[in-house]
Amino acid sequence: MPSEFSGKHVTVAGLGVSGVPAAKVLHGLGAHVTVVNDGADERARTQAAELEALGVTVRLGDGTASDSGSAAGLPEGTELIVTAPGWKPTKPLFTAAEQAGVPVWGDVELAWRLRGHGGRKAAPWLAVTGTNGKTTTVQMLASILEAAGLRTAAVGNIGVSLLDAVTGDTEYDVLAVELSSYQLHWAPSLRAHSAVVLNLAADHLDWHGSMEAYAADKGRVYEGNQVACVYNVADRATEDLVRAADVEEGCRAVGFTLGTPGPSQLGVVEGLLVDRAFVEDRHKNAQELAEVSDVNPPAPHNIANALAAAALARAYGVPAAAVRDGLRAFTPDAHRIAHVADVDGVAYVDDSKATNTHAAEASLAAYEPIVWIAGGLAKGATFDELVAGAAKRLRGAVLIGADRALIREALTRHAPEVPVVDLDRTDTGAMPQAVREARRLAEPGDTVLLAPACASMDMFTNYNKRGDAFAEAVRELGA
Ligand code: ADP
Repeated sequence: MPSEFSGKHVTVAGLGVSGVPAAKVLHGLGAHVTVVNDGADERARTQAAELEALGVTVRLGDGTASDSGSAAGLPEGTELIVTAPGWKPTKPLFTAAEQAGVPVWGDVELAWRLRGHGGRKAAPWLAVTGTNGKTTTVQMLASILEAAGLRTAAVGNIGVSLLDAVTGDTEYDVLAVELSSYQLHWAPSLRAHSAVVLNLAADHLDWHGSMEAYAADKGRVYEGNQVACVYNVADRATEDLVRAADVEEGCRAVGFTLGTPGPSQLGVVEGLLVDRAFVEDRHKNAQELAEVSDVNPPAPHNIANALAAAALARAYGVPAAAVRDGLRAFTPDAHRIAHVADVDGVAYVDDSKATNTHAAEASLAAYEPIVWIAGGLAKGATFDELVAGAAKRLRGAVLIGADRALIREALTRHAPEVPVVDLDRTDTGAMPQAVREARRLAEPGDTVLLAPACASMDMFTNYNKRGDAFAEAVRELGA
């Protein structure tokens, strides 16, 4: 079938998780596809061979895609670039595209444009972004939508790719879409049914260039919303983004709060999640959605995630009972405040996914007293605010990893009374020793919390491996 891509010269920038499927889809739609990729390692060569066998041109490591000024420029005749989301906007390839008036799309933009293609139903998108909590919220949302009997999936920066969801054989009624700030940057025409920015803290600033640019890219998720722009009452910056957005006539701003909700808000009243936005006469009425204990785990930031998911589901028209059933059916992914075991009256909790200070702040707020295991790669972060905020809840701290001195210094400044064990080793025995030291500091009723506030790659392949090492060490304690 002819498509708007038939005969079009499209350059796909970057192989990998988004580039390979994008190249295949575009080729299938009749485009002349050239893939450019900076590296030429074995994985890239295998992917290139697979695409070349289909008739796609692949240019590996010829400088076209490099970060430096030595770029060879746009491939001849390029009319559109489809880029991997992580590619920095400062690449010479994109400057060349801008000069030539060639549009640049990410994989999300391509997926958005392909909705409804080939006679499929164009399922609306309920979109979730924010610095922390995206994956959890999107999964809660999908669980709620499923409980309402809708055909749906959690897609985007998670699990199923958006391209697969819009071009595959499965039909969906509605999609729960996780979007990163990078993906939003490259998705100029995306228009969600409803969307949420969960929170906004400094992250990925090297990529975006400034906090303003990062916030602006996150705020793109509200552009053109049809029913509701959901914001975090406790995070003014998210509300400011709603105000700045250009939305469809009649689209509402809906807040979520851990406090008592005002009109047009969802919140918490006496242990219940309550909706005062999607009810008749919201000035007088409220609708009970679920109990706080239906949220797993019922840590404050996770209750906030549940309220955000509920707001999007309610914007889509889901009944209250489905919110409760969906939240009950939800189990969080591994390494997100996962309770590993109780040993001698002390709880051991794995929040290895707390790879930045904003995430660690949330999990430190959920327990008391805490023996905190922290450290790793700081990625330019400072720890004063985090430590000052948590100081009174800390029984002790055990520090690991390359940048642990930064956390130690913050503890010296803001929590001088708190005993600190500083582990000067990065071998595989470091985590078991950290856990043993934590056990020594802990008293019955305490929580030993792995919430590193840092990336893991100085000691582990990724945060999963770090969390696994913690859980393994805890099991050894109990053995
Ligand atoms: P993301 O997909 O945005 O990385 P996740 O749902 O995977 O988010 O959670 C990542 C980490 O962020 C969790 O381990 C937890 O420490 C923290 N977190 C989750 N939700 C929130 C929230 N609403 N506010 C702050 N931190 C959060």
